[in-house]
Amino acid sequence: MTNDKEMVDRLGDCGYEDGDWRCREGGYLWYAGDGEGFDPTDCSYLCPHCRTHDYLEAAKDEAESCSHYSNNGSSGTGLDIWKAAESKAVEANRPEAIKALVMLGPVSALEGDDSSEGYSVVMCNTQQMKP
Ligand SMILES: [Zn+2]
Repeated sequence: MTNDKEMVDRLGDCGYEDGDWRCREGGYLWYAGDGEGFDPTDCSYLCPHCRTHDYLEAAKDEAESCSHYSNNGSSGTGLDIWKAAESKAVEANRPEAIKALVMLGPVSALEGDDSSEGYSVVMCNTQQMKP
């Protein structure tokens, strides 16, 4: 399986760990806590360390299109999604996160509320962080 080996060298499996989550080939996170190994077709979670830009770009899309979510007992707004992703990315790979934040520019995160639209827009990432 030489192709797999090349893939590993090129991208992913950077050694990043976050609790029971691990990076795997391709730069995706998988859940190691249940001992079942990873599903190679599951590409739901980008690694914030080796795919920082993609990770933040996906979070931006989500924050700008989702005003409220709830999932397995946790819930929040688009604004929560963005803030969590931003701090995770900065923690995982600060230099890459700062570069990606500059490239992505302002984020119009949605925050669900009781207004007639059901949400308001909160501008994020409007100030550049110092490296
Ligand atoms: Zn990684």
